[in-house]
Amino acid sequence: MSIDKILQLTASVQLDNLQDGSHLEASNIINGQFVPTAKTRHSIDPATEEPLPPAPLATKQDLDAAVKHAHEAFKTWSQTTFDHRAQLMLQYADAIEANRADLEKLNTMESGKPLLVSKTEFDFTIRWLRTFATMQLKDEVIEDDDERTVYGTYRPLGVCGAIVPWNWPVLLGLGKIGPALMTGNAVIMKPSPYTPYTDLKLCELSMAIFPPGVFQALSGDDALGPWMTEHPDINLITFTGSVRTGKLVAASCAKTLKRCILELGGNDALIVCEDVDIAKCLPKIATMTFINSGQICMLAKRIYVHEAIYDEFRAALVEFTKEHVKTGGGFEPGVLVGPIQNKMQFDLVKDMYRDVKDSGYQLALDGRILDSGKGYFAEPTIVDNPPDDSRIVVEEPFGPIVPLLKWSSDDEVVDRANSLNHGLGASVWCRDLVRAERLARRLSAGSVWVNSHFDVAPNVPFGGTKESGIGREWGLEGFKQFTDHVSLWVWKKIFD
Ligand code: NAD
Repeated sequence: MSIDKILQLTASVQLDNLQDGSHLEASNIINGQFVPTAKTRHSIDPATEEPLPPAPLATKQDLDAAVKHAHEAFKTWSQTTFDHRAQLMLQYADAIEANRADLEKLNTMESGKPLLVSKTEFDFTIRWLRTFATMQLKDEVIEDDDERTVYGTYRPLGVCGAIVPWNWPVLLGLGKIGPALMTGNAVIMKPSPYTPYTDLKLCELSMAIFPPGVFQALSGDDALGPWMTEHPDINLITFTGSVRTGKLVAASCAKTLKRCILELGGNDALIVCEDVDIAKCLPKIATMTFINSGQICMLAKRIYVHEAIYDEFRAALVEFTKEHVKTGGGFEPGVLVGPIQNKMQFDLVKDMYRDVKDSGYQLALDGRILDSGKGYFAEPTIVDNPPDDSRIVVEEPFGPIVPLLKWSSDDEVVDRANSLNHGLGASVWCRDLVRAERLARRLSAGSVWVNSHFDVAPNVPFGGTKESGIGREWGLEGFKQFTDHVSLWVWKKIFD
């Protein structure tokens, strides 16, 4: 595919005037065609509570058709070379890059996230796709002598269903599509009903690049996810979402013994030791607490600060947050905390703010809920040393509210950090790197950082322990999960 052809396609995508959504047409894509649905639905602009343009409402027949076409496409796609798939993946990344300004606006419009965060999501996504294009699962030679060679090879599974959440729909959507396609699978993406538009447009951009049926997208309502997990001809579900839904997905996949990768909720502990330079670590800690209004799985959700510096740290965090963490609409400049993405989540966040107040916990920063009927806004709130069994400590709030907790010994803080069923990310901030690493190695989480939080990369596996998930995404470890390991035994001399 020449770049001219791609640009021709992008001209027809019509992403103009996105800020008011008036020119947006979103369609399901089956076998390389736009397939309209008889009924449509729409989601809500979280910054205004106004309805967004119509989005498709897929039926079970649409899903059956997509699965059939995916199997057909898989026959040829799975036989293509790695180099061919890599070349198309790079073209796809280029096409997204050429359209990114409009797509970033669309992402902000539907998700509410600040435009700057949307840009970061696209920076990551484009980098992820380009890196995926360099990552090959190569055969291993397990044994090789005169008599026989035994290879370990990786065979694609067939048709994958990618179920995407609303909080990070671009990176987490294409973070599934890239590995599925690079390993030779066909894939059907299902965006969240709360954020269908950008994901559908991203599939639309792929139409001129990948063969029909290789990458399809279906948007629908709450029925579509369970249809996918139950479908007898889908071979793997890669799911990102809440722990509660993850358990339903696992139970449903078990009925057909379908593989599933589960990337679920987190309640990350961030541990601050007494030897840190507070001013140096504060900007990153505050950002990794409140960015995207706290609606990221791997943000700092419990901040444990050593008692020797607790008061000083609390004052500095409050000061920094007041000064630098601005709440507002995603298109307003300088905003870090946009609206909560949807009413269901806003109600949960409001309930958490209410619980904190009703329980009489001290508030170091008392953020308001701005419930005016014109957007789902909540200001950053910092809870001062609530009990370990309080809801704000044990539940993932998924909003801009965080508890600060006081600790005194290494053993104690490790036990408290590890005490929950979550295990997605965790971090230790400490000048003494030997102590820091010793603490880090004791934390039960899929990603653990020293003097950082929420680092991710396309070549580094990512996922959770305990109830935060099963399996890994990204990195070659993540690629393997889209394949079956096949042991290939070749006897060489039997007919000599
Ligand atoms: P959710 O579980 O409500 O929905 C996720 C997706 O699953 C959506 O596309 C939804 O339509 C679909 N779905 C809903 N019910 C289903 C069912 N019964 N069967 C199949 N699919 C179904 O999650 P959400 O509210 O969109 O996302 C927020 C949650 O996701 C948070 O808990 C967050 O921590 C978690 N999350 C985890 C990661 C990670 O990588 N570990 C990343 C981002 C978000």
